Amino acid sequence: MAVRIDGKAVAAKVRSEIAEEVAALKKQGVQTGMAVVLVGEDPASKIYVRNKGKACAETGIYSEEHVLPENTTQEELLALIEKLNADPKINGILVQSPLPKHLNEALIVEHIDPKKDVDAFHAENVGRIMIGDFAFLPCTPAGIIELIRSTGVTIDGKNCVVIGRSNIVGKPMAMLLLHENGTVTICHSHTKNLKEICKTADILVAAVGKAKFVTGDMVKPGAVVIDVGMNRDENGKLCGDVDYESAEAVAGYLTPVPGGVGPMTITMLMKNAVTAAKIQNGLV
Ligand code: NAP
Repeated sequence: MAVRIDGKAVAAKVRSEIAEEVAALKKQGVQTGMAVVLVGEDPASKIYVRNKGKACAETGIYSEEHVLPENTTQEELLALIEKLNADPKINGILVQSPLPKHLNEALIVEHIDPKKDVDAFHAENVGRIMIGDFAFLPCTPAGIIELIRSTGVTIDGKNCVVIGRSNIVGKPMAMLLLHENGTVTICHSHTKNLKEICKTADILVAAVGKAKFVTGDMVKPGAVVIDVGMNRDENGKLCGDVDYESAEAVAGYLTPVPGGVGPMTITMLMKNAVTAAKIQNGLV
């Protein structure tokens, strides 16, 4: 039976280290600050924004929530971002995705000062991740690297398979695994022989967005399996991309949903806010 990777416990440990760093910065006269921008009424986004506010409070980070109505115009949102870019109290700016359809999300992300882009979605920061010279961590993938490390399994030289090639998970995940000297395969909806490829993985990351997509017969015995998915099953219950029961019988280590990757994503965001405060105060 696979060992369950406890994302909450790993996140709690990293958050307490972040809280210490925030407190140490405060002693030097630097208060780390973050602004979270929410446009519209998406219920899941509201929960994410609330959880980000809680994580800021827990780590001693000053936070501001800017809640804007659904019919906010592009110009109004850009004006708020410019204000936050110029605000010395704010080190990190996060615009909660998805935005209402009439807003150009890519353009808005490009408007955030790259030094305040704690999501690491700005093209400059994405490029830096590609090069391997980056200050801001891609949050979900960086959290996953911490979870893999927590197992004691090294990535160096291992076969790593990432299912999914999105800009926020799959692609940066593959890059981080590559930087750790993994041999990386990226799979997507056009991939042939997905099961056979997955079965070669010492480390398998599923970021597909399909409930229980990865089953035990796709897993190499003893593999580290990381489940990024956040889906609803047929009963409306939160579940991952991995069929936990069948994978548990084969894998060596496995993340649950909830309580796996999710808590780490927000934790890495806090880490980026601290990095942003340091950069903006000339401390790194
Ligand atoms: P996304 O943008 O929808 O990307 C899904 C990827 O899966 C795409 O690259 C797609 O391939 C691939 N895919 C779809 N069907 C496939 C198939 N049959 N075989 C192989 N690959 C297939 O999703 P995302 O934003 O990366 O998110 C993935 C999941 O992670 C979602 O459930 C999301 O809610 C969750 N998530 C969780 C966190 C967290 O913190 N826990 C953070 C972010 C996302 P194509 O490119 O060919 O279409």
